[in-house]
Amino acid sequence: MAFRCRMCGTCCMYLGDYIALERRAGPYEFECESVSTGTPFLARVDEDKREIFNDASWLDEHPAACRFLRPSGEHLLCTIHETSPSQCKFYRCVAMRIYDPRGVLAGKVTGTLALHSDDKDLRRIWGAALREIPEWSADIEERLQKVLEAQGYRVE
Ligand code: SF4
Ligand code: SF4
Repeated sequence: MAFRCRMCGTCCMYLGDYIALERRAGPYEFECESVSTGTPFLARVDEDKREIFNDASWLDEHPAACRFLRPSGEHLLCTIHETSPSQCKFYRCVAMRIYDPRGVLAGKVTGTLALHSDDKDLRRIWGAALREIPEWSADIEERLQKVLEAQGYRVE
């Protein structure tokens, strides 16, 4: 199942210290470092996000946020999506969102396959499925999805 980022920006709200801007290299280019891995990278503001990037006033109210994050309507957008470091590109805050048969969100699963849910039935089904499916299975997420769908849950 493909992870769909909702562009809420939550994961970037406190990464200001982790994506360090070292030097401005051009009007929309910055030499940066991904501090957690010590990896330098050249950030280039995406052409279609330059207008929102130009207004940095939002950062005054959110000093801990990544310097490249900007509000856009209901969303918070990464303005360097094309050149952002790989750990940003591959980050998944949620591997699965699970809805009960009424369509109500019943639980979320993080990228480490930890279920967060108050639904006792769902927790029981999830625990049993994890005991059945070897954790090294390459298709573990697809297999878990099938188990949940067989019990009437919907997985996104
Ligand atoms: S990865 Fe998750 S927390 Fe980060 S912006 Fe997307 S939906 Fe929000
Ligand atoms: S570079 Fe983009 S994805 Fe990475 S922390 Fe900053 S705003 Fe978020």
